[in-house]
Amino acid sequence: MQLDAWDVIIVGAGAAGLMCAITAGKRGRRVLVLESADRPGKKILMSGGGRCNFTNLHVESDNFLSDNLNFCKSALSCYTQWDFIELVCKHDIQYHEKTLGQLFCDSSSKDILNMLLIEAEKAKVTITTKCLIDKYETRERSEKNFTLYTNQGKFTTKSLIVASGGLSVPTLGGSDIGYRLAEQFGHKITLLRPALVPFTFTDSFKLLSEKLSGLSLPVRLSTGKHQFLESVLFTHRGLSGPAVLQISSYWREGQSIRLDLLPFTDCFQHLVKQKFEQPRAVLRTIISQLLPRNLVLELEKCWWLEKKEVPIAELSETLIQTLADSIHSWELKPSGTEGYRTAEVTLGGVETGEVSSKTMESKRQPGLYFVGEILDVTGHLGGFNFQWAWASGFAAGKVA
Ligand SMILES: Cc1cc2nc3c(=O)[nH]c(=O)nc-3n(C[C@H](O)[C@H](O)[C@H](O)COP(=O)(O)OP(=O)(O)OC[C@H]3O[C@@H](n4cnc5c(N)ncnc54)[C@H](O)[C@@H]3O)c2cc1C
Repeated sequence: MQLDAWDVIIVGAGAAGLMCAITAGKRGRRVLVLESADRPGKKILMSGGGRCNFTNLHVESDNFLSDNLNFCKSALSCYTQWDFIELVCKHDIQYHEKTLGQLFCDSSSKDILNMLLIEAEKAKVTITTKCLIDKYETRERSEKNFTLYTNQGKFTTKSLIVASGGLSVPTLGGSDIGYRLAEQFGHKITLLRPALVPFTFTDSFKLLSEKLSGLSLPVRLSTGKHQFLESVLFTHRGLSGPAVLQISSYWREGQSIRLDLLPFTDCFQHLVKQKFEQPRAVLRTIISQLLPRNLVLELEKCWWLEKKEVPIAELSETLIQTLADSIHSWELKPSGTEGYRTAEVTLGGVETGEVSSKTMESKRQPGLYFVGEILDVTGHLGGFNFQWAWASGFAAGKVA
């Protein structure tokens, strides 16, 4: 390998790093990607349950969290979901919309990674795996600005792209190197938190969730002014499922969440109607017509144990109203989350105020770029995080 011959060095061969490498390589830039893992794109392979939810049909800035939501707009409009879908089609990868515009591979995430690696090879990109960076230096006004010292030698470059992702899932490459590097150049890092992550409980709900483990149902889940209408999954340690992962990005320690177990039914109206239609039936029977029976049996213990054998005709409307309110607004207090071990993303990152929204270049250090999850741009569940990785990688790759 010619050690000093790189125009662009990219730290991290994940989604954003590979897209950036392909884009810069296609422009004739000599691109080297340094990857610490033994292979590129580990998160891509594990994503979407092995089928990679690679983008979403409806990408808007509202699908992201950031201290400055305007920041992501430019990159997302220069490289859209349609651009990525075109690439996927060019490689004859079969895909389908699962729900809510989420696009998944029909076969395997490997299709997406292979596509990126083929494109990288065509663009003459060099990818070096098992590469550990010891330190980096900059030289003011020298032709090659950055020098990286690694276990595989010394590399210098004019453009250094930090694409090392966030802290989530250390076994898949989650690391803090990008944040440390950013801080070394004077960049501020916003508060980092695990996001798109299951909730854990230590109160009586833990026992209940354990008993119901494996049960999934559609709910409306909210915290503060944020709400998601998706499914929730009871687990041995608490709650997971799309609605929970989504709301976890907005939840903070000590806050409650509210579960509407019947988001499409007016429970009070329904129960009052049943007083006339099946007056001898007990609540358990009636509610089991709307919700899974094992859940109803647990709710009965919590909410109407003393009236469990009383026919609905004999229950007061006040009691029915209280019960309907509980079903539509079950308040729970998570004790925490599963943390970075399983979080799909890291919320927060390099503050966007000192990064160009058009090119991802640092406003503090010419030639230094940040792309992907390392930035303070975090997508909702549903392919938005990959779309951000493709778009921001493309934005930097066009100019670096
Ligand atoms: C289990 C799981 C499933 C997911 N599923 C989806 C999904 O279906 N759809 C979706 O949109 N998003 C999904 N995500 C989120 C998505 O994977 C990330 O948002 C996206 O990969 C971020 O891209 P990135 O390139 O910024 O970082 P990454 O893809 O994390 O890539 C960073 C790369 O940098 C490397 N690296 C780290 N430290 C160093 C270092 N010191 N030196 C060199 N290299 C280093 C890492 O090994 C890694 O290869 C999922 C995440 C997880 C954990």
